[in-house]
Amino acid sequence: MCESLTLDKNEDLKEFIRKSALLNAVKHDGNAQVGAVVGKIIGEKAEYRTRVKELSAVIDKIVQEINRLSLEEQKRVVEEKWPEAFVKEKTAEKRLPPLLNADKYSKVVTRFSPNPDCVLHLGSARAIILSHEYASMYKGKFVLRFEDTDPKTKVPVLEFYGRIREDLAWLGCKPDEEYIQSDRVPIYYEYAEKLITTGHAYVCTCKPEDFRKRILVKKPCPCRDLPVKEQIERWHKMLDGSYKEGEAVVRVKTDLYHPNPAIRDWPAMRIIDTETHPHPRVGSKYNVWPLYNLAAGLDDHLMGVTHIIRGKEHLTNMARQEYMYRHLGWTYPEAIHYGRLKIKGAYLSKSKIVQGIKEGKFKDWDDPRLATFAALRRRGMTPEAIRKMIIDVGPKTHDVVLSWENLYAYNRKILDSTSNRYFFVENPIELKVCGIPKVFNARLNLHPEHPERGFREYIIEPQGDDRHVSFWTAKKDIEPSKVGNVIRLMELFNVRLEHANARSATALFDSESYESAKNAEAKLIHWIPVGQDMPSEVVMSDASIVDGIAEGFCKKLKPDMIIQFERFGFVKIDKVKTKLIAYYAQK
Ligand SMILES: [Zn+2]
Repeated sequence: MCESLTLDKNEDLKEFIRKSALLNAVKHDGNAQVGAVVGKIIGEKAEYRTRVKELSAVIDKIVQEINRLSLEEQKRVVEEKWPEAFVKEKTAEKRLPPLLNADKYSKVVTRFSPNPDCVLHLGSARAIILSHEYASMYKGKFVLRFEDTDPKTKVPVLEFYGRIREDLAWLGCKPDEEYIQSDRVPIYYEYAEKLITTGHAYVCTCKPEDFRKRILVKKPCPCRDLPVKEQIERWHKMLDGSYKEGEAVVRVKTDLYHPNPAIRDWPAMRIIDTETHPHPRVGSKYNVWPLYNLAAGLDDHLMGVTHIIRGKEHLTNMARQEYMYRHLGWTYPEAIHYGRLKIKGAYLSKSKIVQGIKEGKFKDWDDPRLATFAALRRRGMTPEAIRKMIIDVGPKTHDVVLSWENLYAYNRKILDSTSNRYFFVENPIELKVCGIPKVFNARLNLHPEHPERGFREYIIEPQGDDRHVSFWTAKKDIEPSKVGNVIRLMELFNVRLEHANARSATALFDSESYESAKNAEAKLIHWIPVGQDMPSEVVMSDASIVDGIAEGFCKKLKPDMIIQFERFGFVKIDKVKTKLIAYYAQK
């Protein structure tokens, strides 16, 4: 080879650059970095070190060409040409930072305590996963506690107890123990009475606005200092129904000078008219119900919780509960308060979800527009992806904003290797290819990196004098403006488009090899032989429906499998009958 050959004419070198650039692009979400490719080439081909400037210009041009391809197309080329180079990067499993004072306790106990007034959504993922993960990291115990003590305003719903259990199981966060607060009302009575008897709580019959006026100026209400005997009488009047809803509350004594007025003498027990607002589990059995801080505060101690992991919006609650712990001679558990986790574009308002379902705006709890775990599950988000994302964020105290794209990136890392590939064409158009010289036997691997999983096989047998076969192709791949161009039916052969309109198209067999397609700069498209097909619809994440045709092998798929419709996206199979119904997960 002539020494002075310009690098631009050196085809071997250019092919080597193309390979490096493609591998680099696949690694960087479709964008190859010129610098990285230059480094790679001069690292492996020392003879070009003296010609870096010229080399860089060539590389720059190739990188630009490659970056114009979609990530899918880049992967496709790598898979076809250098399957051995397609090595997955393995990232080290990230672990959570150690728990504070874990060694102080013989067993770490954490809890997740939802109100079953709605299904769970991505907003709860942090509390669930961190609590569960820490419990298993320290071989401790993870407790599920249903906080269902408000039958009036945050009304629990029976079906949600079960749905929440299902969600935890799906997330891989099965609890070691489960409690339901509505089963524990007598326990709350016992401690309320204890706090009253010891002078640490009192029954307040003031109108709320009168109480508020006094407490704001750090003054006790007239009930606070009544003798214990009278407090107990009032307590019994609460229990026996002499006081009606709104007429009396038990308050836990705090420092009246606490800088935050919301903490001063907080309410612990109240009356709810359960004849009007029966509890879904215990009906009208109780008319006195604990408020959040009394029930949760007592339970954390009684259930042996050592580490409370929750959002920082609970800091005020901790300050309230610490007074009760002091009154009872208890020590408050370790508390970790993480920052808010927002998911851009995700529906995370319980009330909006519930309202939307009532109004029929959402079909069900697993409507693909929702970020409920039920919807994520139906769409093909994997619990592993959610878990990894949450663990990577960890228990940071500052607010974190994530997007769907972040979750998709985690999910893609899992699905890329686990999901088998199939052909699907959206908005199909029939392409009749004539002049096919012989029978073709197309063997398509279920997964390019896992040939051991097997393949789908389609016999392409030309018919009639014009030796034709008809294929379903995506309308967007067969544009009338492309008449005269060569197109490659992926992993089959190349055709030259002869005619195309909105309803049909015809083409002539051109050649067989991938090389010829490359030389003709042919577009690579998907195809499904007419007759070896299956009508399909994909429910998209905005609940719209994409009609299309899937390849015949999809008849063998089963509900709940996650597959990749190539060049379309990952989908989760919902139903396989005469029609295939799938839910769209992501690109
Ligand atoms: Zn009062």
